[in-house]
Amino acid sequence: RRWGWSLAGELRQAAARDPGRTAVVDEDGATLTYQELLDRSERLARSLRAGLGVQSGDRIGLLCRNHHGLIEAIVAAMLLGADAVLVNTGLSAAQLATVAQEQQLRVLAHDAEFAERVLALPPEVHRVDERGHEELIAGALPGDQLQPPDRDGRTIVLTSGTTGAPKGARRPTPHGFGPLVSIIDRIPLHARDTVLIAAPIFHTWGYAALQVAFALRATVVLHRRFDPAATLAALTAHSCDAMFAVPVMLQRLMEVPPPDARPPLKVVAVSGSALPGGLATAFMDRFGDVLYNLYGSTEVSWASIAGPADLRAAPTTAGRPPHGTRLEILDAADRPVPAGQVGRIFVGNEMLFEGYTSGTTRESHDGLLDTGDLGRVDADGRLFVDGRADDMIVSGGENVFPSEVEDLIARLPQVREVAVIGVPDPEYGQRLAAFLALHPGEQLDPEAVREYVRHYLARFSVPRDVVFVKYLPRNATGKVLGRELRRYYG
Ligand code: ATP
Repeated sequence: RRWGWSLAGELRQAAARDPGRTAVVDEDGATLTYQELLDRSERLARSLRAGLGVQSGDRIGLLCRNHHGLIEAIVAAMLLGADAVLVNTGLSAAQLATVAQEQQLRVLAHDAEFAERVLALPPEVHRVDERGHEELIAGALPGDQLQPPDRDGRTIVLTSGTTGAPKGARRPTPHGFGPLVSIIDRIPLHARDTVLIAAPIFHTWGYAALQVAFALRATVVLHRRFDPAATLAALTAHSCDAMFAVPVMLQRLMEVPPPDARPPLKVVAVSGSALPGGLATAFMDRFGDVLYNLYGSTEVSWASIAGPADLRAAPTTAGRPPHGTRLEILDAADRPVPAGQVGRIFVGNEMLFEGYTSGTTRESHDGLLDTGDLGRVDADGRLFVDGRADDMIVSGGENVFPSEVEDLIARLPQVREVAVIGVPDPEYGQRLAAFLALHPGEQLDPEAVREYVRHYLARFSVPRDVVFVKYLPRNATGKVLGRELRRYYG
């Protein structure tokens, strides 16, 4: 057996070839080389086995923000052939208890700040906080290097739960560099770069970023929480070559005073939700043509990539599929639609997930997985994601994509952020409701918003309800929670 393209495999290789290279610098002041990180992960693995009886096939839940301890715990699980279940830090105590039961967690490692949330977990789940983590590492018995276990430890990434309860998706452990090549082929990331991962590592995008970084023997800079000013400072202080983030973080970076000198970034890669076109342009005007928009999901990993040239030409595009990925737009009868026409986005690549842990499945066709999203590909081969099929609004028999209306309203200078949803309407079936959070001190008249939209879009795309809110409810990965907005309507 050999180690696959897993975090443990990558760490092992990096420690063998580049032991003194800095692997992680985090906010806690920890700076660890690849060798140190591997040693600590191995010690943790030994203690988890000897002290808590963790074995191949067990599942270890991780409820952590971005710091070195999270990486060590993921690697330790994999070294033992156990699965690391990455838990969204936004889950409530009740959701967490459900996850623990459904995933049959043997251990839950968590940050001290979540101590209260884990109180209600069943007693058979061993809880390990940050102190416990350090004690396990310090108390490890010496031993030989761990050998590859009888099975590959998987990561199980929980979906965001935007559309319901979070689902556990088993991520594959590809044997080979296909996924890495497909990303560095399109994004100028290099061996030994320094990268700041601002996206949460518990989310599929942050985790993918970590895997790529380790495969490149990069130095990874981590902050527990995203703070725009601190992030800007860190980008310069650590001379970061790249940053991995979610779109709302770019929005927040644009709201703090611009730095005197541009950080020396070559790549800012975002994924996880739609990148508003206006934001893409404004961000590149301030930080340079360094922006990459990746479309993907927990189930399909990254499926398309737009670089600065595509984003300059068509700011709302999600780009083109990378090498090794098939992307097709199919109609209801699973037939490809012509360029420019909207259909369901299907994706096939070697990074497709291996199924939900609950056993429920996703529709697939000819090796391609249904993403649940609608979109179109233009004559130049650029993908445009219109949003989830379930979010499409049907008003008076006409189809409206919230993303199109949101993108337009977001361009009003007074608007800080906006979300559009469909709400039941006795006359039209559904009508559009726009929720707007304005920049401090700004004001807007609802009729002026409607008038503005009417100027650019069809009558049925005009939000009849314009609701002003202080901020939009978002989950831990920055996605707007439509179900929270719907509560406004009782
Ligand atoms: P759940 O399945 O529990 O609702 P989730 O699907 O929100 O969770 P993710 O897998 O992170 O969790 O979300 C993937 C979805 O996010 C995609 O299907 C798509 O709708 C949206 N998305 C991701 N990246 C982009 C992008 N670059 N542009 C537009 N939409 C995106």
